[in-house]
Amino acid sequence: MNAVQQYDVAVVGGGPAGACMAACLARAGVRVVLLERERFPRFHIGESLLPSCLPPLQRMGVELGRGNHVLKRGAAFFDERTGEHNYFGFDEALPGLPEFAYQVDRAVFDCELLDAARRAGATVREGTTVLQHDIDDSGVTLAIAPTPAGPGPDECLRGASRPALAREGTTAVRARYLVDASGRRGVSSRGGRELRSITGLGRVASFLHYGGLAESAWAELIERGEVRVLRIDDGWIWLIPLHDRRLSVGVVSRRQRLPDDELHATLAASPMLARLTAGASVTGVRHVGDYSYANLAARGARYVAIGDAAGFLDPVFSSGVAIALMSAERAAQTLLPVLHDAQALADPELMAPLSEATAVAYRSFHTIAHRFYNGRLIDNLLLASAPDQRMRAGLVSLLAGDVWRDDNRFQTAVLSATRHELPPTPWSSAP
Ligand SMILES: Cc1cc2nc3c(=O)[nH]c(=O)nc-3n(C[C@H](O)[C@H](O)[C@H](O)COP(=O)(O)OP(=O)(O)OC[C@H]3O[C@@H](n4cnc5c(N)ncnc54)[C@H](O)[C@@H]3O)c2cc1C
Repeated sequence: MNAVQQYDVAVVGGGPAGACMAACLARAGVRVVLLERERFPRFHIGESLLPSCLPPLQRMGVELGRGNHVLKRGAAFFDERTGEHNYFGFDEALPGLPEFAYQVDRAVFDCELLDAARRAGATVREGTTVLQHDIDDSGVTLAIAPTPAGPGPDECLRGASRPALAREGTTAVRARYLVDASGRRGVSSRGGRELRSITGLGRVASFLHYGGLAESAWAELIERGEVRVLRIDDGWIWLIPLHDRRLSVGVVSRRQRLPDDELHATLAASPMLARLTAGASVTGVRHVGDYSYANLAARGARYVAIGDAAGFLDPVFSSGVAIALMSAERAAQTLLPVLHDAQALADPELMAPLSEATAVAYRSFHTIAHRFYNGRLIDNLLLASAPDQRMRAGLVSLLAGDVWRDDNRFQTAVLSATRHELPPTPWSSAP
């Protein structure tokens, strides 16, 4: 190992959490380095944003309304077997957030966020893998190496492989504080050893993109740009319209990974999907499984994990990017005033308030996701018209990601009713 570069904060990972964290810190004049394993643009799943993403993005200087993304006005739920369906517009939510969000191509979106971090003054190093980190009394040392070319381990395509890292290219970076924003199997979870699986939700997602949709299908999909959730036996399908006449489609199964022929048969059995994708081209299938977990080591002396590195629940309510951005902003707010206070940085409880705030979000989404899979939420609320308009507004506020308000009666009722139903997690006891 040779030359050691010195920074105030090292951020591992350049997804939404890492880019937002780096931007917030750099904007305040902090010397921050962001180390990202991949070279962007790269594929990533997580295409449907919530309205609660927009304020943090705006503060980062990311303007999504420039034509690369689809305006999303709500969410719709269907059961084609019974003909039931229901649409929830974000304009029905309790007041406070924008009444829309976006459906984004993550390859493009993540570049936009990383550029915002650069503009704010962060040093961004793409193609740099963090191999190891060592925390000591005065800071953290990260061993880094150039990432070899080729698809990475997050590539969900079958057969993807990448050459091994060349250890001889290893150098070091030193910082006062470490932010783990490296997503699933993040660096602070010690290769996954600190992850607690969460059961009772979806287990495997298989997904692909359709391209070149017919004019009429495209017009229908972008009229409200909503995410469509189709209930099927043993799971559900998502439909997310993406820029350039593309449609992202995924099947989430509660059991096991679907073989490709079963997946295509499942998709072909949906009349809506068959109609919307008639004549369209289709990409290869990607799969991801066992994605519901909590990182039991998400905070400690001189480090914090944010976004997926801290935990992830389930794709059904599109909460991932919203929680990633929120936790990044709050972590930065906590860190900024104490960045030169060695004692505070070494306090393992420094980020306890962040954990409390994220626990509210995780528990809210966990509760409704758990009920989606195990209770009658979908029948009683998502496919039925809720009798009480105030309750409906509360539900839509949750669907919009507006989980930190104290006047949402629906949220209060749902959270207290299910307190003892959920499998134990680090956020089980959130207020
Ligand atoms: C099937 C599925 C569907 C989903 N759909 C949605 C959706 O519709 N809407 C939504 O909001 N969320 C969705 N999500 C969740 C969403 O993908 C994540 O919550 C979101 O990407 C988290 O952002 P992040 O910045 O924490 O992590 P990531 O976006 O995963 O970023 C982590 C980054 O760290 C880098 N990295 C990893 N290890 C290292 C290392 N050792 N050194 C350097 N860099 C490293 C990676 O290359 C990556 O770029 C979905 C998830 C799944 C599984």
